[in-house]
Amino acid sequence: MSRGDWMIKLENVTKVYKTGVRAVNNMNVDIGDGEFVYVIGPTGAGKSTFIKLLYREEKASSGKVIVAGQDVSKIKDRKVPYFRRNIGVVFQNFRLLPKKTVFENVAFTLEVTDTPKVQIRKKVRRTLELVGLEDKANAFPHELSGGQQQRVAIARALVNDPDILLADEPTGALDSETSVQVMELLKEVARDRLVVMVTHNPELAEAYATRIVELRDGIIRSDSNPYEVSSDKLEVPRHENMGKSSMSFLTSLLLSFNNLRTKKARTILTSFAGSIGIIGIA
Ligand code: ADP
Repeated sequence: MSRGDWMIKLENVTKVYKTGVRAVNNMNVDIGDGEFVYVIGPTGAGKSTFIKLLYREEKASSGKVIVAGQDVSKIKDRKVPYFRRNIGVVFQNFRLLPKKTVFENVAFTLEVTDTPKVQIRKKVRRTLELVGLEDKANAFPHELSGGQQQRVAIARALVNDPDILLADEPTGALDSETSVQVMELLKEVARDRLVVMVTHNPELAEAYATRIVELRDGIIRSDSNPYEVSSDKLEVPRHENMGKSSMSFLTSLLLSFNNLRTKKARTILTSFAGSIGIIGIA
């Protein structure tokens, strides 16, 4: 996928934890649709905090975090699950629910947002197929290998077909062969969505990323391919109003008059034809 409109924008973002640690320090970055961004840096550089700010696990102390057209700090707590429907997240330690089956683990995110049961079944089956685990739907996490558990976690992150996938050290707990399998899967996933991934392994980043952002002490130390925001891309398309007109009554009235004025010939002809019809009936 080519680089499209911007999806993530941080403006002077700082995160200071209650302990006084400044994990992210006045950060500015733009990330476009379709990128495969690797965030690298040593332990304590602020990589996880950066990811947490994007899906609202942590709130910025100051500055603006905009993700998929939404100012993250302005999203009300009860709306957060809906916001997260468009953002899949994968963690190093999988974070699967141990007492739930593979199917239930993947279905979970859909259940908390009231998706109808028939749709849940369809979406979960399709996503398990995508990660090659359709035959493990009734297994429990402890019956699976690490690589399979991570694939379940990836399925859970993808089940809503999100625009953005965030991954925090997704191969950190896997051996090198399984890591490559998981990375190949994520490469496929990245074909039609933005993927932002944290790793401390620069070799993986070199092999898969379209862009490498290096953090140190909460600051961007280097960026291999910065995103240039052109003025026509400043507005991210919003889909909230899909199917509804967002015009006010006055605006529509003015537009109608404008339409009548600019399309005079068509208006006169239509009125003439209409009059003939009415006279004929009379
Ligand atoms: P990285 O992912 O690059 O290892 P983190 O974002 O986890 O870095 O951490 C950045 C800094 O913030 C570290 O000094 C870490 O100890 C601190 N930190 C992370 N999470 C918290 C927290 N919940 N409370 C206090 N300090 C934290």
